[in-house]
Amino acid sequence: MSHDSRTALRVCPLCEATCGLTLTIEGTTVTGARGDRDDVFSQGFICPKGASFGGLDADPDRLRTPLVRTDGVLREATWDEAFDVIAAKITALIDEHGKQAVGVFLGNPNVHTMAGGLYPPLLLAALGTRNVFTASTLDQMPKHVSSGLLFGDAQAIPVPDLDRTAHLLLIGANPLESNGSLCTAPDFPGKLKALRRRGGTLTVIDPRRTRTARLADRHAAIRPGTDALLLAALTQVLLEEKLADPGTLTEHLDGFDELAEAMADFTPEAVSAACDLEPDTIRGIARELAAAPSAAVYGRIGSCTVEHGTLASWLVDVLNILTGNLDRPGGALFPLSATGRAPRPAAPGKGFALGRWRSRVSGHPEAKGELPVAALAEEIETPGEGRIRALVVIAGNPVLSAPDGDRLDRALADGLDFMVSVDPYLNETARHADVVLPPPPPSQSAHFDFALNSLAVRNQVRYGRAAVPLEEGGMDECEILARLVLAVGGNHGAPPESVDDLVIAATLAKAGAPETLAAELTGLTGAERRLDLMLRMGPYDLTLEQLLAHPHGIDLGALKPRVPQVLRTRTGRIELFPEPIAADLPRLRASLGARPAGLVLVGRRHLRSNNSWLHNVAALRGGSNVCTLQIHPEDAARLGLAEGDTARISAAGGEVEAPTEITDSVRTGVVSLPHGWGHSRAGTRLTVAGADPGVNVNQLLDGSLLDPLSGTSVLNAVPVSVTAVRGAVPVSVTSTR
Ligand code: SF4
Repeated sequence: MSHDSRTALRVCPLCEATCGLTLTIEGTTVTGARGDRDDVFSQGFICPKGASFGGLDADPDRLRTPLVRTDGVLREATWDEAFDVIAAKITALIDEHGKQAVGVFLGNPNVHTMAGGLYPPLLLAALGTRNVFTASTLDQMPKHVSSGLLFGDAQAIPVPDLDRTAHLLLIGANPLESNGSLCTAPDFPGKLKALRRRGGTLTVIDPRRTRTARLADRHAAIRPGTDALLLAALTQVLLEEKLADPGTLTEHLDGFDELAEAMADFTPEAVSAACDLEPDTIRGIARELAAAPSAAVYGRIGSCTVEHGTLASWLVDVLNILTGNLDRPGGALFPLSATGRAPRPAAPGKGFALGRWRSRVSGHPEAKGELPVAALAEEIETPGEGRIRALVVIAGNPVLSAPDGDRLDRALADGLDFMVSVDPYLNETARHADVVLPPPPPSQSAHFDFALNSLAVRNQVRYGRAAVPLEEGGMDECEILARLVLAVGGNHGAPPESVDDLVIAATLAKAGAPETLAAELTGLTGAERRLDLMLRMGPYDLTLEQLLAHPHGIDLGALKPRVPQVLRTRTGRIELFPEPIAADLPRLRASLGARPAGLVLVGRRHLRSNNSWLHNVAALRGGSNVCTLQIHPEDAARLGLAEGDTARISAAGGEVEAPTEITDSVRTGVVSLPHGWGHSRAGTRLTVAGADPGVNVNQLLDGSLLDPLSGTSVLNAVPVSVTAVRGAVPVSVTSTR
C-alpha cells in the first residue's frame, strides 16, 4: 500500500450475502478489496466477486453522464436536460392516455442499493400505474405468494437457522455458487461445512451434482420440475406415519385436517416415477427430517421457477411447520431487521389477496401488486386503452432476463413512445431508452441493506457512507430517484429533499408521533434522515448516530421466535391450507402421470457471476465461468456430440447454439445452460461482455409457461431438443420468431 492510500469499509452489493469489505483506495480509485475481519456479520469472508469490487467500480464502460436521445441518437446531456425531458414526456403521455400508459420494470439490483430500497415505492405511487413488473416474477415471487397465503404477509419469509440447525434439506438451491438467496448468510459454504462438523446432516435435492450436492450426506438427483411432488410426498409420509408434530405452533394453525386429506394421494409410490426417486428414498428423507433434533427445509430457484413454484414454496414451509421446526431455534425463523416493524400485539391482519386486478391483454392476475414480466412485451405491443406507451426501467435488463428477449427487444424498439433507464451501463435494455440516468459507482454511494437484513440468518445492522466522494458531474442515486419521482409526479423542479420530507411527515403522522421528531433526525441527506427515522421507529430503538459509531456493524443477536406477532392473516393464525393453494392442487395431481418425452433444460449459477451484472468485469471472466451446454455423457453419445462441439438447442421460443460441455454432474435427460448471457446485440457499451457474449437461454422460452399463482416464468424444467451442428458453426443467437 502506498503512503497516500487509505482503507474504507463497504458492504458488498454483489450478491445477497452482504459481506463487509475493507477497500483499499488510492486517491479516488478502489485498488483492492478484502474481507473485513471485524464485520459483525461476515467476519472476514469474501468471494471472488467481492474481491473484484475495484474492477467493477472503475469499469471504463460505466456511464458518467446522462444520455438523452436526440434525432434517434443517444447523446451526453446535463442532469437538468435529462429531467426536463422526462417531466415533459411522461406528464404529457399521462395527460393524453392516462396513468396506465406508463409501465415500470424494477431489476433485482434494487435490493442491493439504498436508493432502490427507498424510492421505487414512491415512484409507483407518483405514477399510479398498475403496469408494474419486477425481477420477482423471474425468481422469487412464488415464495412471496406462499408466505402471503400462509402468514398473511408476503414479506414474512422464514430463513433456515444455519448456525444452529442439526439437519438441513436444500431443494433447488446451490449456495456454494450463489452464496445464498432469500437467505442472507455470509460464508454460506462455511456454514454448511460447520453443520457437517458438528454432526449435522445435509441433504440436497437437485438434478445436478452441484458443488453443494458434493458436500451433502445425501444427494437425490430429482427430475427437474417435480419438486412440489416430492415435497407433497414428504408431507404425506409425515402425516401417514403420524410423524407430524407442529409443537407450540399447533395452537396457531388452521387447516391441518384439510391438508392431511388433500395430501393423502401423494404417496411416495405415486410420485416416484415422476420424480425419478425410489419410494424408499423419499420415505427415508421424510423420516430423517422428522427425527432430527432440529431441521430446516430451504427451497430456492430450482424449486421456484417451475410450473408448480408456489406449491413447492408453500410445501417447504408446510414441512417446517409439520416437523415443529418453523419459528424455533435450529429450524426456520423470521428475521427481525433494525428497520422492520416493531413487534405488535398478535391480532388479525388484512390478509393477503391475489388477483385484485389483471393484466390487460392475457388477464394474468396480479401478485403482490405486480404483473408477470412475461406479459410486458404484449402489454407494449397490443393496441387499445391502457397500452404501455412509456417504460421506466430501474436497474434492470429484461431483454436478457425475461422470456423471449427478441420479442421484448422489438417491443421496446418499436412499441414505446418514451423510455427511461436508470442504469450505469448501456446494456441490452438501456440501449432502447430515450433518457439514461447513470448512478455513480458503488464506492461513491452510501449503503444500507433494507431488504436483505429482513432475510438475514442473524439479526444485525450495518451502515456506511460513500467510501469515495461523488465525482464531478455525478449525481447520488438517491437524488436521481427522488428527482425522477418529482419529474413524473408533476413536481418537476422541486428540491429532491422534499420527497424525503414528505415521507418523514407522513410516517410520523401515521404513527401518531409528534411532528417535532422530524427536527431531531440527524443525517446529511434526506435518505439518511429517513433511515434515522426508520431505525428510531424500529424494534431496536437505534439511531443513525449509533450506526455511524459502529462502522463494523451492530450485532442484534440470533433469530428468535416471532409467532404469533408476525402473522397478518385475517384470522391471525397460520393458514396451513389456503384456498388458492387448494384450488391449484389438482394441477399438481394431474402432473403425477406426466413424463418428459425428451430432454429438459435447467439453469445454473457460477460463483464468479450474478445474472447479467458482472460479465463486463474482466477479472471474473474465463475459467469455468463460461456459457456452455452441460450434458450427460450418455445423452451426448446418443446425440453424437463430442466435447466442444456446437450444439443447437431448440424450444418453443427459438433456438440457440452453444459449445457442448460433457459432464456427469447433470443427470441423464437434463441439459444446463447458465442465464444472464447473450451480450451480442448492437448498440450496447459492454466491451468485455460483448467480446465473448454467450447465448441467451431465455430466447428458448416463448413466455407462455408460468406458475399461475405467482405469474413467475418457468425458467427450469423446460422441454428442449438438442442436435449436433456439423461443421464449424460460430456460437450465435437465432430465433424462430
Ligand atoms: S459472497 Fe456475495 S456479498 Fe460476499 S463478497 Fe461475494 S459477492 Fe460480495
